[in-house]
Amino acid sequence: MHSSSVRTRFAPSPTGALHLGGVRTALFSWLHARNRGGRFLLRIEDTDRARNSEGAVASLRDGLAWLGLDADEEPVRQSRRLQRYREAVAGLLEAGRAYRCYCTRQELEAMRAAARAEGRKPRYDGRCRDRQMPPPGGAPSPAIRFRSPRDGRLKIADMVQGSVAFDNAELDDLVIARSDGSPTYHLTVVVDDRDMGITDVIRGDDHLNNTPRQLHLIEALGAAAPRYAHVPMILGPDGNRLSKRHDAGDVLQYRRQGYLPEALLNYLARLGWSRGDRELFRLGELVEHFDIGAVSRAAARFDPDKMRWCNQQHMLRRCPGDLAGGLRAQLLSLGVTAAGIAAGPELRHLAEVQRERHPTLREMARASLAYYRAPEGYEPRAAVRFLQPAALPPLQELRRRLGGLASWRAAAIGKEVEEVAARHSLPLGKVAQPVRVAVCGTPVSPPIDVTLELLGRRRTLARLWRGIACIERQATATAGKEEAKEQV
Ligand code: GLU
Repeated sequence: MHSSSVRTRFAPSPTGALHLGGVRTALFSWLHARNRGGRFLLRIEDTDRARNSEGAVASLRDGLAWLGLDADEEPVRQSRRLQRYREAVAGLLEAGRAYRCYCTRQELEAMRAAARAEGRKPRYDGRCRDRQMPPPGGAPSPAIRFRSPRDGRLKIADMVQGSVAFDNAELDDLVIARSDGSPTYHLTVVVDDRDMGITDVIRGDDHLNNTPRQLHLIEALGAAAPRYAHVPMILGPDGNRLSKRHDAGDVLQYRRQGYLPEALLNYLARLGWSRGDRELFRLGELVEHFDIGAVSRAAARFDPDKMRWCNQQHMLRRCPGDLAGGLRAQLLSLGVTAAGIAAGPELRHLAEVQRERHPTLREMARASLAYYRAPEGYEPRAAVRFLQPAALPPLQELRRRLGGLASWRAAAIGKEVEEVAARHSLPLGKVAQPVRVAVCGTPVSPPIDVTLELLGRRRTLARLWRGIACIERQATATAGKEEAKEQV
């Protein structure tokens, strides 16, 4: 039916939020489908009621939607297909490709213990394979096992792992339906891949050992075998498997932290896939160049600093107006009101200035709070260093001049600062730093002319006045102390 065009799928089990490893697997599937002009599908593997949750399903969908990894067809939910799995199991039984296993739990345990004692791999010994009748004392409701071939070899041409061979003798007769009738993972995955017309299975390499079993099942069901690509896992910066400990628990946390989806996708695509030493790709360029065969077989290591760098590079490539919405959301989440934002600097301009200095929208917003509300106090060390009596005359003069400035533009503001510095025979920094501390509370901000333009005239004048008053108060207090000392 779908023989000519590529169909891939992402098949998460909704046991928790969508994490970075899952995103990368989904991304590779999505890119491969898009690169080949094929289709990308989503399947929620939610048959395990005890471990699945609707919250996890929602977070999967939200995460994928945020990233734009859209599925081309209605997502398939395994929990709605139980009847279909039952039919498939019945068909395999009827064709003699599966059999009923009456072994009790105790029997299976004894079998495993004996294997261990003899130093063999614990596996099912096939004792129910050729039984015609339930044995006396057997389990009342049998499980169904697949009749795996016992000899021969199976070779897989994996698009990432290369050629991998398995001895059929190593494979168990795996359970395809439990004694309560519920299907197991191996059965559902194979039935679904077949019904969904999946041609290319891209998944984590922890599934590589499942593949020979699944291929035998596929053959027994009379389905066409898909191509496989088993992608290696991601390691954390410490070399252990990437996990929640590494901040990788939920992809939506990166939205909260102010990452752009395309930056995250670019970073994750480059984690294990490369095209020369190029680092930066727009989404369309990833689609154009992605080649599943070029994904490395070695585990990739997650590097949060590089991801931040990648995010900043993407922000710099965007038109600043595109960043305004994200910056606004961050400001709101930091407690700036909508009215406050409206009364503040133009967001497009703010984004243009701050993206040069900060790698995420969140950090841009944090560093911009001074444009919305007066700093609670001056950074103590900066105040001691820059809010000194020597700064009073230039600050007073600058405030006067800025009050009468015709155009509140960085160029005009900068000219005033330069002129004041020249008139007081001071290097520019000796004026700019006190101004910066007075208006922002810190000695770090964009260039002073830009800072003041963003801040606006009203706020600039009010904060300069406050800074001047602070220096004057200190001067009086110090003079008072000096006087007191003299009197002693
Ligand atoms: N549901 C499986 C998992 O979460 C994926 C199965 C597959 O891709 O074949 O690991």
